[in-house]
Amino acid sequence: MRVEKRQRQPSTRRPAIQLQVKTILNTIQHFPGFVYQDIRLQRRCDGQPHCIEITVEAHGGIPARCSRCRKPAPGYDRLAQRSFLFVPLWGIVTWFLYAARRVNCPTCGVVIEHVPWSEGKRPITLAMMCFLSRWARRLSWRETARAFHTSWECVYRSVEWFVQWGLAHRQLEGVESIGVDEIHWGKSKRADNFLTVVYQIDSHCRRLLWVGKRRTQATLRRGLAALGPEVVKGLRFVCSDMWQPYLSVIAAKAGQALHVLDRFHITSHLNQAVDEVRRAESGRLRGRPLAQRLKKMRWKLLRRGSRVRGRAKRRLCGLLRSKLATGRAWMLKETFQDFWGYRSLTWANAFLDVWCTRALRSRLEPMRKVVRMLRAHEELLMNWFKAKGEISNGPVEGLNNKIRVVTRRSYGFRTYAAMEIALYHTLAPMPFRNSRIIRNQANLRSIMWIMARWTMAAALVSVSS
Ligand SMILES: [Zn+2]
Repeated sequence: MRVEKRQRQPSTRRPAIQLQVKTILNTIQHFPGFVYQDIRLQRRCDGQPHCIEITVEAHGGIPARCSRCRKPAPGYDRLAQRSFLFVPLWGIVTWFLYAARRVNCPTCGVVIEHVPWSEGKRPITLAMMCFLSRWARRLSWRETARAFHTSWECVYRSVEWFVQWGLAHRQLEGVESIGVDEIHWGKSKRADNFLTVVYQIDSHCRRLLWVGKRRTQATLRRGLAALGPEVVKGLRFVCSDMWQPYLSVIAAKAGQALHVLDRFHITSHLNQAVDEVRRAESGRLRGRPLAQRLKKMRWKLLRRGSRVRGRAKRRLCGLLRSKLATGRAWMLKETFQDFWGYRSLTWANAFLDVWCTRALRSRLEPMRKVVRMLRAHEELLMNWFKAKGEISNGPVEGLNNKIRVVTRRSYGFRTYAAMEIALYHTLAPMPFRNSRIIRNQANLRSIMWIMARWTMAAALVSVSS
């Protein structure tokens, strides 16, 4: 044994890293027709690792495949060597180097061969794109780029590819309830700064289905068209705000579904009214001692009454005792919460009548505006009781909050396209790509986890030091 080992050593001696990496690569990323030829660690002048270069060669006995029809074809010539960014190994930037061949395909002519680890002309491997887009869900895009030594653009392209693939392959069967909502994005209040979003709000699946610019009839029509006629015809519940363009389109396109105005939106209209009353009143009382009672009360007033505690609660009670208009508006808002607790349609109707009369007599114009709005959509409002137990008010609110988190997180979204991709990426669970790379996912994941941890640890050390 020992003699044999000593004899073999001089001829086959290689650096330890080369053997290890090749073994890993062949286990997790084996591409038939290609072999990992050579693996080199390039160093900087100070001796620190710069990058790992993995040279890939075509297997001599297996013909190349045409990139269009994927059929084997005779070779034509060879192009210059190109590099493809791979998942960083031990936190070191890693490249695949390969000189692609061109093939003379009988049907497609002279075209470049099919390279299984990359797609199109992208200088990045599919494995790296999956890797980056998974991390981009947990970290911001900039953080992802920094942690894995790549650019924001590269993360963006990876997520874009991932989302496009996911959207093309998602399953839309079984969508029964959708929520339609508008979201404000950016700074100004121009029409382009509003988004229309369509969510699935079934209890088994809550996700973003579609997002589009503006909040017009045309926008929602586009959204429903994107879901396809089968999905729209199969809807049982549609939940939305009282925004007229949406109401018209939903009535026209999904007339069979029960249209519900949900609690979340109506509460937010009431909150807006309370806030308007408060602002007008504090304007009127400026300079007078009573104005002190309205100072710093905005969030206390907008919260649900039962959730205000301690000192805030005492201030709120003080405000109510002072008989200011804001206090009356707040009372009206709070009493309306009882409406949602009714089980019988008749009693709910009776409550609504009493409440509306009180609100109309309150001499508070914003509150009267809410009454007029509720009266105009009374039928849709009462649908809430018909759909009771089938849809809850949580999902739309929850998804809306998530969208706000995404749009406000400093992703550096300068364009609408980038934000749209980020929204789909975080709010719509995507099916995973079922290519060869991913089929080895279990293997890949465990190894990548180890690598990722290493990389993260290295990144954290460099940040803290
Ligand atoms: Zn072909």
